Amino acid sequence: WDMTYDVVVIGGGFAGLAAAYSAVENGAETLLIDKMPVLGGNSQINGGVYASYTSNIADDMYTKLGLEPDTAEKHIEDTIIGGDYMGDVKLVRNFVYGAPFFLNMMLDNGLEVRESITRPGGHYGYRTYTTINGVGADIVQVQKKMLEATDATVMLNTKMTRIFREGGETGRVVGIEVETKDGAKYVKAEKGVILATGGFGGNVEMRSKHVPALTADIPTTNHVGATGEGIIMAQEVGANTTQMSYIQLYPFANPNNGVLDATAVIPFSGPSSGIVYVDENGQRYVNEGERRDVCSRAAQESGGFPTFSIFGQEIVDKGGFIAETQLSNGMKDDRIFKADSLEELAQIISDHQYAGNTINMTGETLKETIERHNEFVENGSDPEFGKVIDKGVMLKIDKGPYYAIPQWPSVHHTMGGLTITERTEVQDIWGEVIPGLYAAGEVTGGVHGTNRLGSNAIPDAAVHGYIAGQVAVTGTVPDF
Ligand code: ADP
Repeated sequence: WDMTYDVVVIGGGFAGLAAAYSAVENGAETLLIDKMPVLGGNSQINGGVYASYTSNIADDMYTKLGLEPDTAEKHIEDTIIGGDYMGDVKLVRNFVYGAPFFLNMMLDNGLEVRESITRPGGHYGYRTYTTINGVGADIVQVQKKMLEATDATVMLNTKMTRIFREGGETGRVVGIEVETKDGAKYVKAEKGVILATGGFGGNVEMRSKHVPALTADIPTTNHVGATGEGIIMAQEVGANTTQMSYIQLYPFANPNNGVLDATAVIPFSGPSSGIVYVDENGQRYVNEGERRDVCSRAAQESGGFPTFSIFGQEIVDKGGFIAETQLSNGMKDDRIFKADSLEELAQIISDHQYAGNTINMTGETLKETIERHNEFVENGSDPEFGKVIDKGVMLKIDKGPYYAIPQWPSVHHTMGGLTITERTEVQDIWGEVIPGLYAAGEVTGGVHGTNRLGSNAIPDAAVHGYIAGQVAVTGTVPDF
């Protein structure tokens, strides 16, 4: 061996940073590696939306916003239903109950959030917080700062290439091989190896093996390092995988390149405030309060390309989830269109090209759609698509200026991955725990079922990372 640590964490996203922090907190000599030149992975470029049924700032926020407080039971129920009952209720309970703990820890260490709690697609309780800039990097920064203040070692440009397990069916994982700029190195892990290597949405061969339709033609929101080899390496030492064919498309990515930029977060947080999605003709095509898989499929079946989010100034002012920088940068980059009337907005939409395509949306149709939707908001019911409308919370779109954001589905989250116990221990194909091997975050499978609700990813990754760090060192689980 070239190096020896108590705990070796692979991957520096939400899950790995939380795991390393909790391992050190529990007294372990800890190494965190990442193959990329920077920490953060997909976490860094995620939308910064975080579901938590309560928090230290919740009471004030609910009162100020006039919203009903949420419960853990409702969060669990929505998550299980949102994944068609295919999620693992033990793991869902873990992250739902752990979500406030981790959010409070971030807030105590300087995380700033927007003055809003929203109810995005598939959530029927107000529980989604948005970081101040609407990006996951806001949370990664806090996690990095906290880890830097410990004596954990961080090695970048260091790629895990193999996991070592002692012989026999009950053998222990004892360390890993890494590739560095100085060649291969062997790292011993006395107490545990924690895999936090993320998903495989950026690996066309691997994803299309499980879902043949997800060819190279379909864009992805993922960073280039989301290639899933952590899953394969774990399989080589006997680990089991589950639900590998459940792959989520993010319905609101940039139609020109598939990227989930800061602008693309607005359509996601917007449904409870009254954002309306229209197809290329200016007509609604889905219940905006629906899950990501439903919204993505509806867009693909809308008959045109792309679709659009439409909103007015009142949603910007009162919704509370759109940062000033998101709006101004979006307009500067021509990602957000602004106009004084809906007719003019339809004209601007039609004046643009989308991945080389042109469309022809008439102002008349767009106006008709929005006026009809305003009536639904007024009446508190949506006979067209059955959206749940909370009167007094959802806003009409009847005051300019008006805004539009083009959007299209892009490969986002791989719900499948390694099977783990509620203690984050990786299991073999017989369901037995592989001693010394733990996993947390997108590398794991079966947590969410067929479809992960938006804003559940950060609590899942961070809370399970936190659990893994403690279990590896002490054998006990945190009491959230
Ligand atoms: P999560 O949200 O589950 O924490 P992320 O995608 O944010 O997932 O983070 C996963 C991290 O793991 C990324 O920064 C990625 O570069 C890193 N990673 C993936 N595979 C390897 C590997 N083989 N060796 C080292 N780091 C890896």
